[in-house]
Amino acid sequence: MRILILSDVHANLEALQSVLADALVRGGFQAIWCLGDLVGYGPDPSACLALLREYDLLAVAGNHDHAAIGQIDPNQFNNAAAEAARWTATQLSPEEIAFLGSLPLIATSAPFTLVHGSLRAPVWEYLLNQESALGTLNLLETQFCLVGHSHLPFLCKENRGSPDFVDFTEDQVFSLDNERLDNERWIINPGGVGQPRDQDPRPSYAIYDSREATIERHRVVYEISTTQQKMLVAGLPQHLIDRLDHGI
Ligand code: ZN
Repeated sequence: MRILILSDVHANLEALQSVLADALVRGGFQAIWCLGDLVGYGPDPSACLALLREYDLLAVAGNHDHAAIGQIDPNQFNNAAAEAARWTATQLSPEEIAFLGSLPLIATSAPFTLVHGSLRAPVWEYLLNQESALGTLNLLETQFCLVGHSHLPFLCKENRGSPDFVDFTEDQVFSLDNERLDNERWIINPGGVGQPRDQDPRPSYAIYDSREATIERHRVVYEISTTQQKMLVAGLPQHLIDRLDHGI
């Protein structure tokens, strides 16, 4: 079975469509795991939800999903994010709000646990350093944990209480088999689809192949200007429009 691993789609339909097309060319997939922030920032929340839901989808909630449906007060966000959250809320149907509200904070599909931010603060904590990695590893009950939220791709090895962050490079094929033999636990971030923040504007995603026991990470190009034009028409903050050019 091949599973597409996506995070932080952020209502960017062109980015999502490009990722789906690229994954199909690379051998396809039978299901999607989505690590939260399906909506927020981008101009196409409903279309992105509809497209994702065409597939066998296992998704967890992110902070922007909760803000869009009133479970988080947008005032807890910075100005641009709050403005986008309020706009997103006006775009969603009651059914879409119910769907986002139904997303769990944590999901498990052995040997993986899926969460947006971290296991100790599922929609809030950015897992970016040893301390936060340890916090999640202490709660992790499977061998691998998939996280998003930072929009930064990485691999993090448990390494006997001293978690070790290493690059998850473009087109890298990470073998789970070797790690299984060593019984090492890993935290994996596939990078962001709809608003990458690693100084590269190209959407980033991963594919898990259960038979090969691999996770590979890829990037795709998409027509950024199309998304930006929609954001302009929607009246979304200029800062959010500009940052798509730079991957920040
Ligand atoms: Zn996000």
